[in-house]
Amino acid sequence: MLPLHTHAKVTGVRGKAILKVLTLEEAQRSDIDPSICLIWQGESQHSPVSEHADRWAGVLSPQQSAGGCRGHQIIVDEIKTPGVIAPGDVIRVVEGKSRISVLYRRGSNSNTLLATERCNSFCLMCSQPPREVDDQWLVDEMLTTIPLVDRDEIQLGISGGEPTLLGDDLVVVIHQARRFLPTTGLHILSNGRRFSDEGFARRVCAVRHPNLEWGIPVYSDCPETHDFIVQSKGAWDETLTGIYNLAKHGASIEIRIVVQQANVARLGELAYFIFRNLTFAKHVAIMGLEPMGFARRNYEQLWVDPADCVEPLKEAVFFLVNRGMTVSIYNFPLCTLPRELWPYCPKSISDWKNIYLPECDHCDVQKRCCGFFRTVGEKWISRSVGAIKNADAPFTEEITELI
Ligand code: SF4
Repeated sequence: MLPLHTHAKVTGVRGKAILKVLTLEEAQRSDIDPSICLIWQGESQHSPVSEHADRWAGVLSPQQSAGGCRGHQIIVDEIKTPGVIAPGDVIRVVEGKSRISVLYRRGSNSNTLLATERCNSFCLMCSQPPREVDDQWLVDEMLTTIPLVDRDEIQLGISGGEPTLLGDDLVVVIHQARRFLPTTGLHILSNGRRFSDEGFARRVCAVRHPNLEWGIPVYSDCPETHDFIVQSKGAWDETLTGIYNLAKHGASIEIRIVVQQANVARLGELAYFIFRNLTFAKHVAIMGLEPMGFARRNYEQLWVDPADCVEPLKEAVFFLVNRGMTVSIYNFPLCTLPRELWPYCPKSISDWKNIYLPECDHCDVQKRCCGFFRTVGEKWISRSVGAIKNADAPFTEEITELI
């Protein structure tokens, strides 16, 4: 697990700068404006800036910089946490601060841009509790970062808060992604409520991004339960209207369900509702809780041991799969689930949040298991957790029994 922030000695920055870190060879081939490129000065590279020093914004070195910069250039060196920054990454540095944030990490499975900290819901299990702040600057940061992301990046996320609170600025951001990253899948997490305004849904879809998917939660087939989970009366109606408006204008939609006490018993009914009413959904993601933010505060109200979710999970997953829908189970360690559910369990936890427990060291399936969030505490660990042996032993296929 590599964090997204570290500290270093930073000199030469004026205000705030978003910079692309590249090796000298890559920078010489790149079409990125040299004035926003920091040249990576790795261990074996002691005179990196060469005679073209003035072209680049400066240098970045994990250890003490070998120098070669002019007075007006940026030097980032003596990085506190090894490995946090590497060539290809996009970083934010701020004048007078030692803290460096990685906005994009080459090779990560979970690059996500923060759109806003504001939200119009207040979900019981929100891992990033909303804040009512003026963070309009995040729009500019996204617009600056997107052109610096590797062009062959497979997927980029946008999250919040609630990204649709940006209104038409979100349309501009999607345009930027389409312009600079036309082959990169864009995945935006939203509660979908703003799309109950069909005009907004139409404007967003009019960008015609070739590979954009909206991840929108529907927590229950019962409006009251959904509204309770998001702590907002009328949210279910707005979300469903929003999903239909998006679908009407050609959007690709993923339905997200976070499993918790309030909805676990009716997962089967929710699957039926989705199949009947949201058949056009491209993907259904059924997810375990992340022990962060409000989820920690509301533990008593939320926690249900994954071992006690197995029957409703099987009912929901196989109901949808047997009817041709695509389903994934996120954030449930494999040892908490029967083997017939394993094919639906990708390694879902972002690499910078992901850990394994000591028992995982002796487990045959660690390489394909999602493991745990780094914030996991003892009370968030299922009673079923334990090393798996003989992982390839045959199991009884139960799919047909569950139709
Ligand atoms: S023991 Fe660890 S690696 Fe093995 S299945 Fe359980 S959580 Fe995953």
